[in-house]
Amino acid sequence: MKLLFMGPPGAGKGTQARRIAEKYGIPQLSTGDMLRAAVKAGSEIGLKAKAVMESGGLVSDEIVIGIIAARTLEPDCAGGFLLDGFPRTVAQAEALDRMLKERGHAIDHVVDLAADNEALVQRITGRSTCAGCGEGYHREFKKPRQADVCDQCGGQLVQRADDNEETVRNRLSAYQQQTAPLIDYYRRQGNLKSVDGMLPMDQVFSAICAILG
Ligand code: ADP
Ligand code: ADP
Ligand code: ZN
Repeated sequence: MKLLFMGPPGAGKGTQARRIAEKYGIPQLSTGDMLRAAVKAGSEIGLKAKAVMESGGLVSDEIVIGIIAARTLEPDCAGGFLLDGFPRTVAQAEALDRMLKERGHAIDHVVDLAADNEALVQRITGRSTCAGCGEGYHREFKKPRQADVCDQCGGQLVQRADDNEETVRNRLSAYQQQTAPLIDYYRRQGNLKSVDGMLPMDQVFSAICAILG
């Protein structure tokens, strides 16, 4: 199964992608996670991406297309994958279509998560992630049992450098200008499924499972 999750920052893509990827036994390919790993490692890509990510803009199409083209060829992607946060521009979507077509593949479902801007800001500014296992948390909506400690692995919860109110505004505007046009792009292709991301997490999960069958 090849899946694509899209939606504005904070809509719940990562939260749901993690659960769905586990349920279907496919890898979750998050360009955001891969770029953050590159920044941390200080690789050439990381050096190019760092400032753009900190400002809330989009990293160049060339970089993210290259990352996904290589990552989807790895053996664990043979049975499918879940794209989380890619594509984010029409040029990326076109490159993805070309790449899949050349390989005789296609995306089975595009899931679009929608949420109000106010909720997005609240979700992003309250978000934390386990440095050990990657599990996501929220100050109000998904509190760990012990402050700043992961329920799953005991790891430390950290906040992302770009999860502040100032950067969030830039990310939301990058989404409106560059990513939102993809909703029409995939609607025209006929495989777009819209899910109400304002629902509680478990209900969003059930709605996505119902779509995927
Ligand atoms: P994205 O990957 O789309 O940026 P996340 O999945 O990281 O979004 O979710 C952003 C924050 O909002 C996280 O802290 C997460 O725990 C919380 N969250 C996700 N889905 C919901 C929901 N349906 N209701 C309330 N909070 C949510
Ligand atoms: P969120 O969904 O919460 O905004 P991500 O982790 O998906 O966060 O992305 C974090 C940052 O990484 C983005 O703000 C952007 O700078 C960069 N990024 C991630 N995916 C892409 C992409 N497909 N194209 C361009 N930039 C990307
Ligand atoms: Zn953990």
